Amino acid sequence: MHKYILIGPQGSGKGTQARLLCRDYDFEHISIGDIFRWNMAHHTKLAARIRRIMNQGLLVPDEIVEEVVRRRLEEHDWNYGFVLDGFPRTRSQAEYLFENYNLDKAIYLDIPEDVVYQRVMHRAKVGEGDGFTKRADDNVETLKVRLREYFEKTVPLLELFESKQMLVRVDGTGAIEEVYAAIRKALNLPEPPPGAAASGEK
Ligand code: AMP
Repeated sequence: MHKYILIGPQGSGKGTQARLLCRDYDFEHISIGDIFRWNMAHHTKLAARIRRIMNQGLLVPDEIVEEVVRRRLEEHDWNYGFVLDGFPRTRSQAEYLFENYNLDKAIYLDIPEDVVYQRVMHRAKVGEGDGFTKRADDNVETLKVRLREYFEKTVPLLELFESKQMLVRVDGTGAIEEVYAAIRKALNLPEPPPGAAASGEK
């Protein structure tokens, strides 16, 4: 059983790397942002509570996020483990996780701020008219708020993970496959099973 979290600023590749790990090792990919976006697309009650907050780029209150994570993890569909993408982002969320689950490692995808802007603005452009779902929160104004939240509330968690000897720091600026190889090495994961990559992403 492997229990990992991915931590890093916007555009650091958390979603991409989580999908690769889950494709190759059958872990369950749990993205809180994706769960929230699904709720918004389906106009659920939860969506009504979070829409404004999320569209402004602010963090959703801990009670709401913790409830969503609790319900998702209680499904127990993660026989081989899970990769939490975008959780925890605050001290309270981290404590919730420590109390309830034995985390193995926190993978920190390190990229400088100028790369954050380049990548997110690229994502915003590619999204236009290209069959991609453009994220409502991928614009300069919202990105500034999201980054401020990240530096204020999430970056302090790095020290916390370090003090528990859980932190794995990986340079996130390289190509997707390079970053992925560095993560596998840092986690001591075996070579992905042959054919896994050819079968495409889940
Ligand atoms: P993401 O796709 O991970 O960038 O998340 C998109 C948005 O969902 C964030 O800007 C927040 O508004 C909200 N969100 C996602 N994960 C969390 C979290 N762990 N805590 C609070 N808000 C979150």
